[in-house]
Amino acid sequence: MRFIIFGPPGSGKGTYASRIAPRLGIAHITTGDVLREIIKANDPLAEKVRPFVEKGMLVPDEIVIELLVKQLKKPEARSGFVLDGFPRNLDQAKALDQITHIDAVLNINTHPEVIIEKISSRRTCRNCGEIYNISDINKEIGGVKYILPPMLPKIEGRCDKCGGGLYQREDAQPETVAKRLEVYENESKPVIDYYQKKVPFVQIVANEAPDMVVEQIIKDLLTAGLVKQQTF
Ligand code: AMP
Repeated sequence: MRFIIFGPPGSGKGTYASRIAPRLGIAHITTGDVLREIIKANDPLAEKVRPFVEKGMLVPDEIVIELLVKQLKKPEARSGFVLDGFPRNLDQAKALDQITHIDAVLNINTHPEVIIEKISSRRTCRNCGEIYNISDINKEIGGVKYILPPMLPKIEGRCDKCGGGLYQREDAQPETVAKRLEVYENESKPVIDYYQKKVPFVQIVANEAPDMVVEQIIKDLLTAGLVKQQTF
């Protein structure tokens, strides 16, 4: 089970992947988290990657690919993985082909208006990376009803899982969000065409609470024969 979860920033990739991976007994590999860890730990690489992450631009391919290879070598990834945030351009997709085989792409579809609202409402645990949402989205856009209840911590500002402090990511500022969406349109979206010709696609409409979306993804994976019932 080697999957890529693909979608614009703020579409909920991290939330879904973090729930699907333990259900399927596979690793959740997220390059965004790896980069944020490097910055937080003041790793020797921190000064090289920080300016890109802070501006919402892509970190140079050679750095991200090396980090990804390290993640894929971890024992947790032996039974499979869901890649979240990689590949983000065609060169990364081609590099991934040389490294490993991909079984399917889970492609998240969400309206840009919802994305902007979700990014500004997102709070992240500084310690473990768990994601929360403080706003309640309930509206119809383009014929699709979006019902996204908030995901609030039990204690305001504190992570339910580890008690860590919650914060709003530095790249959630409106101008940085606009840059991230532009990078997605120009550099990441072509990756969809690349894979559509190569591997099965599972289309995900992210218009309801994560638990329900996750159940739908699991059902779709079963129907497509991409996972087996006895796996979970
Ligand atoms: P994310 O948490 O996936 O939204 O990633 C946050 C930021 O990390 C992005 O805006 C990029 O600056 C950087 N980043 C994450 N993954 C990659 C990647 N595969 N290639 C280049 N930069 C990345």
